[in-house]
Amino acid sequence: MATHKLLLLPGDGIGPEVMREVEKLIGWFRKRGTGFETETDLVGGAAYDAHGVAISDAAMARAMNADAVLFGAVGGPKWDGVPYEARPEAGLLRLRKDLGLFANLRPAICYPALADASSLKREVVEGLDIMIVRELTGGVYFGEPKEIVTLENGQQRAIDTQIYTTGEIERIARVAFDLARKRRNKVSSAEKHNVMRSGVLWRKVVTQVHGDEFADVQLEHVLADNCGMQLVRWPKQFDVIVTDNLFGDILSDIAAMLTGSLGMLPSASLGAEDSQTGHRRALYEPVHGSAPDIAGRGLANPLAMIGSFGMALRYSFGLIEEADLLERAIAQVLAAGLRTKDIAPAGANAVATSDLGDAIVKELETLS
Ligand code: NAD
Repeated sequence: MATHKLLLLPGDGIGPEVMREVEKLIGWFRKRGTGFETETDLVGGAAYDAHGVAISDAAMARAMNADAVLFGAVGGPKWDGVPYEARPEAGLLRLRKDLGLFANLRPAICYPALADASSLKREVVEGLDIMIVRELTGGVYFGEPKEIVTLENGQQRAIDTQIYTTGEIERIARVAFDLARKRRNKVSSAEKHNVMRSGVLWRKVVTQVHGDEFADVQLEHVLADNCGMQLVRWPKQFDVIVTDNLFGDILSDIAAMLTGSLGMLPSASLGAEDSQTGHRRALYEPVHGSAPDIAGRGLANPLAMIGSFGMALRYSFGLIEEADLLERAIAQVLAAGLRTKDIAPAGANAVATSDLGDAIVKELETLS
């Protein structure tokens, strides 16, 4: 039986609270015969307190060695004054950089039971399941020159540079097409070839990769501004959306809000495929932060963290049946009316973080 090596980095604030619920699920899957080997280490403020850095070299080595990293959240007011290079977020940035995580995956799933929590109409979002694939390490956030210069007339001029190479576009396109094959087989590529040279190249390369390697997947090109509009108008027309760093930043936040709460949003960041094993380095984390305002009080919604574990099952380990089972258990628990405070209707009773985790384990038992 294959053993899947997971590194757990709970981090700070509500990070350890929501990770505890994932550990319950790992325990349940293990009992059922799925081979998980887990290690746990410190990251963020917790690592700073213990080692004076946001992630130790030993923890980094473990991350490099793992099949997937599960990351909770980092940061909090306690560490506001620490040196810049040791601030809690530096741990996450080092992980992203050293693991070469260039593809950011953010699903927007709207469980029918939560459709009323969205700001859009129920029929627009109910049952929504789309995936935004954002290029994470290139584009205008990193391109040089990137500066503010003072001109002779005393005015200032700011410059950011949007740069993409063929290789960068090819590898993110492959991630999107691969994902689509595991979903509903459609990719929408968003750029602005009408006004940007990088958009022209983006469109050309995505078309090329599609024709050469993924002709079985449906491909459409959509202008990024129209994509934003369509996401709000009729989001269910999409399956996988692939786009650059800047547009992805914006479009994934729009898609996120279709689903209601920050406590519901998982994410994955993937690296390059190993040419020998075909395995990708990967880090899975909730979109939310360490929520110091509710930490330690059993109020945190663990579903974003649990959903991130579900993504690891599906995308790192190929455990599709297990991932589907977990999705069904989450949907059932929500349909039964169990809610943490962030997703409970005003005045309704809310359950604690651990109660929601326990209910999912119980539901898994019932469904399996
Ligand atoms: P946040 O995501 O931690 O919290 C924003 C709001 O959403 C808060 O009111 C919080 O209580 C609520 N919330 C977040 N997650 C929730 C959950 N699972 N269940 C219920 N409610 C939830 O963002 P913030 O307040 O801007 O930042 C707090 C700290 O987290 C800061 O130190 C920030 O730097 C850090 N942060 C870390 C990450 C990360 O680790 N990836 C991401 C964002 C922010």
